[in-house]
Amino acid sequence: MPALTLSETRRRIAQGESCESIAEKAVAAAEKSTHGAFVSVNRDKALETARGIDLRIKAGEQPGILAGIPVAIKDNLCTKGTATTCGSRILEHFVPPYSATVVERLESQGAVIIGKTAMDEFAMGSTSETNAFGVVRNPVDPTRVPGGSSGGSAVCVAEGVVPVSLGSDTGGSIRQPASFCGVVGFKPTYGRVSRYGLVAYASSLDQIGPFSRTVEDSALLMNIISGHDERDNTSSMHDVPDYTSGLDDGVKGVRVGIPAEYWGEGLESGVRASLDESVKALEAAGAKIVPVRLPSTRYAISAYYIIALAEASSNLSRFDGVRYTGRAKDPKSLLDMYSRTRSELFGEEVKRRILIGTFVLSAGYYDAYYAKAQRVREVIRREFEHAFAQCDVLATPTAPTTAWKLGEKMDDPLAMYLSDIDTIAVNLAGLPGLVVPVKPSAGLPVGLQLVGPAFSESLLFKTGRAVELQGAP
Ligand code: GLN
Repeated sequence: MPALTLSETRRRIAQGESCESIAEKAVAAAEKSTHGAFVSVNRDKALETARGIDLRIKAGEQPGILAGIPVAIKDNLCTKGTATTCGSRILEHFVPPYSATVVERLESQGAVIIGKTAMDEFAMGSTSETNAFGVVRNPVDPTRVPGGSSGGSAVCVAEGVVPVSLGSDTGGSIRQPASFCGVVGFKPTYGRVSRYGLVAYASSLDQIGPFSRTVEDSALLMNIISGHDERDNTSSMHDVPDYTSGLDDGVKGVRVGIPAEYWGEGLESGVRASLDESVKALEAAGAKIVPVRLPSTRYAISAYYIIALAEASSNLSRFDGVRYTGRAKDPKSLLDMYSRTRSELFGEEVKRRILIGTFVLSAGYYDAYYAKAQRVREVIRREFEHAFAQCDVLATPTAPTTAWKLGEKMDDPLAMYLSDIDTIAVNLAGLPGLVVPVKPSAGLPVGLQLVGPAFSESLLFKTGRAVELQGAP
């Protein structure tokens, strides 16, 4: 099936192609996918929904902006009546009794959910390899990782199974797989999108956002999922503008900051060459390039992996064998049930993180680790603020390298954590980040990351559109 964008799919439906035939093609492609993008494909429900939308269109109704559009949802977003596993055996049979707000919003605009996508267990990882239900492969080179943790959501868009999908981003989980798979990925400002129904990893960092083939499609999806939700008290009251308006205004006069710390040592030369080229093209299109400094970037990984793991150790304490279905067999006592459920059904990486998170919060270590990390976080936030006094958006790599080989970093957690260097400070500061594919390096996708001040999503989309117009892949 040709890879369609959201706008093209809408046009086809407007011209009379049935939503059922579009859903059928998407479901068939998902079932045939050899890259492991899906944890589950819901053929019957998808086709039934699509038929319902066809009937409404025939009756002269307008079922919504996404009428008949096939979408895929990361498996840590609750979908009523459909299993939501978070890539974990502890939630293998968990069927939520309600849907996440973002899922409700997509469905209320006529979207057809065709399946749930594979991810690192509880969104902890950068490769999707900690998923308990199988390998996820990079569609450009199946011997390589797709990135993570929202690997499946990036892969199904790159494969052309669906034009758009949803992921979550705590430290880069939308942006890095978008970069590795050659699609657009957007992490909104903290609070822009309701997280009600997202299984929490690190609540002060988590955001939900779209994957798409074009910047315009991500902007359109953001129009639908953004905005206040009384069920998530961290969701912002900020107005939601039309993110698709002014997309083609160009970047004349936009000040693009280049933070030296992101462009230094460790950046692969091929990746640097592609990114340099795209920044030069922005300059040629009228943007003004300004060097800026973010000196505390080097502390971001340590601060992030203390804060995120501390929050995770608390959030994951709810999976105790009593609630949410997963339970060890034949427990001898209540204590045995708790401890065996958690030892047997959580994967190695999740257990490592719960242990570290519990340690950094424990009496005697709290000030040395957790409280200190929070202070570093504040310094990082202020440095971004300072940078945005000198520029409008920042342009950086999304990751220092292209996608690496499957298995390459699995025995070296530290190397895995270090690869997140370009994305995590953005979460610590709660900022929006957009990744747009640029020229591949040695045949592998590369994405330019654009970061803006809080609630500057419109400016990011406009700048991203200018990057896209450079004629990259
Ligand atoms: N790789 C990072 C981590 O493992 C980010 C994951 C994410 O954004 N969910 O924590």
